[in-house]
Amino acid sequence: YAALREASLAGLTDTQREAVTAGPGPMLLLAGAGTGKTRCLTARIGWNIGVGTVGLPHVLAITFTRKASREMKHRLALMMGPAAQSMFVGTFHSICIRLLRDNAEFAGISSRFTIIDDDEQLKIIKDICLNDEGVGLGVAADEISFASVRDAIDAARNGDGSKTAWEELRANEKAWKTAKLIDSGAKMRLIVEAYDRIKKEAEVLDYNDIILKTVQLLQDNTGVREYYQNMWRMILIDEYQDTNTAQEKLIALLLNKERNITCVGDEDQAVYGWRGADIKNILTFEHRYAGAKVIKLEQNFRSTSSILNAANALISKNRDRLGKTLYTVSESGATLRHDRFSDDKAEANYIVQEIRRLNSEGVPFGSIAVLGRYSHMILPVQMPLAQARIPFTVTAGKKVQSTQDIQNIVAYYRFAKNRTDDFALQRIITCKSRGMGTQKMKMAHDEARSKRIPLVDAITQLIAANEIKGKVAEGMNELLSFLEELADDYTLEAPPMELFDRITVEMGLDEDLAAAKGKANTTKNPDARGKQLRAVEKRQERLHDLRIAIQTADNLDEFVDAMALDPMEDEEATAGVWLGTVHAAKGLEFDHVILPGWTDGVFPSSRILERIWGQSEGPALDQAKAELEEERRLAYVALTRGKKSVSITSTEYRMGTQGPPSRFLGEISRKLVKEPVEPVETETARAA
Ligand code: ATP
Ligand code: MG
Repeated sequence: YAALREASLAGLTDTQREAVTAGPGPMLLLAGAGTGKTRCLTARIGWNIGVGTVGLPHVLAITFTRKASREMKHRLALMMGPAAQSMFVGTFHSICIRLLRDNAEFAGISSRFTIIDDDEQLKIIKDICLNDEGVGLGVAADEISFASVRDAIDAARNGDGSKTAWEELRANEKAWKTAKLIDSGAKMRLIVEAYDRIKKEAEVLDYNDIILKTVQLLQDNTGVREYYQNMWRMILIDEYQDTNTAQEKLIALLLNKERNITCVGDEDQAVYGWRGADIKNILTFEHRYAGAKVIKLEQNFRSTSSILNAANALISKNRDRLGKTLYTVSESGATLRHDRFSDDKAEANYIVQEIRRLNSEGVPFGSIAVLGRYSHMILPVQMPLAQARIPFTVTAGKKVQSTQDIQNIVAYYRFAKNRTDDFALQRIITCKSRGMGTQKMKMAHDEARSKRIPLVDAITQLIAANEIKGKVAEGMNELLSFLEELADDYTLEAPPMELFDRITVEMGLDEDLAAAKGKANTTKNPDARGKQLRAVEKRQERLHDLRIAIQTADNLDEFVDAMALDPMEDEEATAGVWLGTVHAAKGLEFDHVILPGWTDGVFPSSRILERIWGQSEGPALDQAKAELEEERRLAYVALTRGKKSVSITSTEYRMGTQGPPSRFLGEISRKLVKEPVEPVETETARAA
């Protein structure tokens, strides 16, 4: 224990030590990027175990992403060895799933519930809009964007669960705006209700349900609540600025009378307002937790001074902040630059050239990142990178084939667990050719809907009624009995690998991969051939990784849940250049960071700027200004990922629009922009 105490404090500054060793009770570590917040949080766990204030099973650490959880677990294991395993380190979603599984009965849900992803959500909503007779949108459905309906439903569900989905939606300004587009809102209510009903019947939960159901579980069941309050006596939360109301409520319910809670965060890095995160949670922490200790750190250990000065200058333009300035003792050097190109193609070529240059100077590819405000900004870079044979990993954008293989496999496990998960079954049926075309699938769905039975039963009945017959019926019968067996074996806890092998055989994955390879080999264009072959390799690698992950999982149930949430992002690989969104890079650091797409009208977007320039007044103007501040915080997060250098690029033309360099560049330093940027009137500008 003495060694653990020592390890916890090694190399820390006095203020950091103060944060690490502060006694129990509410504490907020409020500090800028790269000041060691996450490091202190981890050390605080080690310290408390070391001095014996809390035992391992009583610690709950919450991180924002699975990657961050893995990293924290790793650091804890380095500090205290394998014992660290008995601590619960996870995301909000993983904690909630655990609670729901263990207390399904009290939560009023089936313990076999499975989780649907945002694509499946969209499919359900689309299906309701097009086919649900009660909703009866019919042709009018063509005119609405299903994704915006989904987003509206999601947006309305970041509250604390005290209202019904419909009430939430009605109270949410943005969501209601979408709703009004559909038949002045009346239909939206039917859509929301149908959506909830369908999920309930299929015994599936979407991402928001996972949090909301847990909040309800803890609220309504004193016994369950006390059990967890007793179990988790020390709660620590990283990236606290991005919690939403539902998550905040959850924390309040988990916290016992001791109120031993440590939150670390940075209000300047709050970038999830669009998903319902509420910056007030951090701004009012002291107020809500009387007697809270607040510690601020000001030394940045990550970046050179030119990067840090840029970040400081930029964020100082925001009004909605607590205000803090960071300093560093690292040397400066010309490590921040901006280069301008005619279009995104020229920009992408430059980026590849730049990566090559860095690499020739001895920089490993793995310590370089290209971060886009939107995932489409890193898209143009991928082809030239592949052509230059530079290894890279992508963590954003459309789901790639290799991810789809994994989701398909996971669908089999899901269905084995929950035979009413129609969405998993749909995936299983369509993941290979079985003669069940769109027409027949629709027939099966209609049957299921009208009789209110699971899809699997609808198909069985259609076969019995000879509506599905011949070869297709044969194939479906085969599949269904295969799935039945799989479910039995899953329940009997057959070795996970045995199931895995049977699943991949049923899917015909090996044949599929061989065919893809064969096809690639006949491609004449060598570039295209290389690309296709690499795609096949990637799929094989990912399957291999999945195999290992399943083999080493302690608990198959938990594993399937985790996969449903986040189907093995490419992020595991570290040898290549890291391509991702700024959102996904939160909390991470790289020696060299390249930031494409800093064109005014794109970042920040014209959608926001127009409202500020335009005729907006009152709440609409305030909203636009708040959105601009969130964009600025994103720029701040992007800049502060870089340790040694940050290279920003902008383009004259992007996606058909012409724009000057981003105004954020001008805010950092006039020297960075050679062309003037039209000023935007903000409170700060006015005050100045
Ligand atoms: P972010 O806001 O981006 O999440 P953070 O505040 O969580 O950043 P960390 O990621 O914990 O910061 O630390 C940033 C870097 O500084 C890490 O590489 C960390 O190891 C290093 N660091 C932190 N404290 C010290 C210290 N006292 N001495 C040397 N390096 C340190
Ligand atoms: Mg951090």
